[in-house]
Amino acid sequence: MEFSLTSEQSMMRDSARRMVERDIQPVLDAHPPDRPLPKEALLKIYAALAGQGLTAPRLPESAGGPGMSMLSYGLMFEQLPPVIAISVLAQECTIARIFAESTPAQKERFLPELIAGKKLCCTGTTEPDIGSDPRGVKTRVVAEGDDLVINGSKMWITNASVCDLINVTCAEKQPDGRSQMRRIVVERDRSPFAAREIETLGLRQGHLGEVVFDDCRVPKANALGAAGDAARLLTLTWNGNRPLLGLAAAGMAQKAFEAAVAYAGMRTQFGKAIGGFQLIQKNLADIETAIVTSRLTCYYALDAIDRGERTNGLSAMAKRYAMAACQEAISLAMHIHGAMGIGREVGLERLYRDARMLPIPDGTNEILALIQGREITGKDAFRS
Ligand SMILES: Cc1cc2nc3c(=O)[nH]c(=O)nc-3n(C[C@H](O)[C@H](O)[C@H](O)COP(=O)(O)OP(=O)(O)OC[C@H]3O[C@@H](n4cnc5c(N)ncnc54)[C@H](O)[C@@H]3O)c2cc1C
Repeated sequence: MEFSLTSEQSMMRDSARRMVERDIQPVLDAHPPDRPLPKEALLKIYAALAGQGLTAPRLPESAGGPGMSMLSYGLMFEQLPPVIAISVLAQECTIARIFAESTPAQKERFLPELIAGKKLCCTGTTEPDIGSDPRGVKTRVVAEGDDLVINGSKMWITNASVCDLINVTCAEKQPDGRSQMRRIVVERDRSPFAAREIETLGLRQGHLGEVVFDDCRVPKANALGAAGDAARLLTLTWNGNRPLLGLAAAGMAQKAFEAAVAYAGMRTQFGKAIGGFQLIQKNLADIETAIVTSRLTCYYALDAIDRGERTNGLSAMAKRYAMAACQEAISLAMHIHGAMGIGREVGLERLYRDARMLPIPDGTNEILALIQGREITGKDAFRS
């Protein structure tokens, strides 16, 4: 067992840190913290992300990706500001899904500009009535001549309002009358659809939206994969996304920890720095413990993916654990700041709001517990 980073992994992590300082944070700071970034600003950031291989980390070099391990990707991902982390996860995961399900001609048509970060994309699975159980999607696709016609709506979709292309999970009726999931790529310039932003608690510089398809006509050549593969592919990508989101939470908790350590050394009460009080030291120790244990479980899950192991339980455990531990850690770091912690000036209330967004996408805590439970017992608690 080896717990230290290789020199290559350290370089990748440090290079991501420098990119954030040089190319991302200044763009975020130049825009209002509570409003979705304009698309041009986001595209500037995507140019930097593409330069580091972060728009297609799961693709091999032969397909235009960097051929990165999931663990190396995680080390870089952890450095990203949360609003960019969630956006690029939607982009690269959509690219990975299209890559896995498409023909060579479809890859050639859809992927190069997305990988270059010149166009933005997203995956639309969740609907107003369908969340944790995506097998029930109601958005319908039917063939009509040379086209496919899509009707339905998608909800809570990252990047929806700014995307050029959306990979939509639809229900397609099979000859035997049963419905199966099918992915259809909808290019916004050829097949316009309505999208609106949804206001949320956190990640407010990001884009989370609703999309409506009203007789949206798409060429038949935009249907991906064989009907039925979509559900399996969703699970495979979710297994990678879950520890990545756990690392985004760990990165946020790390920032809160650094602020709390600095404040504890500076703030005096009862004639001495509060960092000298035993109970403050215990709070700092709890925060550090949450960060280290979250990181280790997430790294472990990503490394297991790289080794080709089944990680359904491990990935679910990593995300659920990191979400709870890091949310608590950020809250404790705020508490160490007293009233300053809830003020807007120090930025902790923003981390707190942003962190609260993450336990929902890619499996809520309850769903993740049931997945882990199914791996432990071999019994499916979802369906009878
Ligand atoms: C920041 C963010 C980004 C997102 N990005 C995307 C995206 O890019 N694309 C996309 O398609 N979707 C996206 N989503 C949507 C997300 O995937 C769904 O919100 C999530 O799957 C949960 O669905 P729901 O909100 O409908 O909750 P529901 O499924 O209705 O769940 C409601 C509550 O019931 C609980 N619950 C459900 N089933 C069970 C059960 N069997 N046992 C116990 N409890 C249960 C849940 O845990 C939850 O607490 C995003 C959401 C957020 C917040």
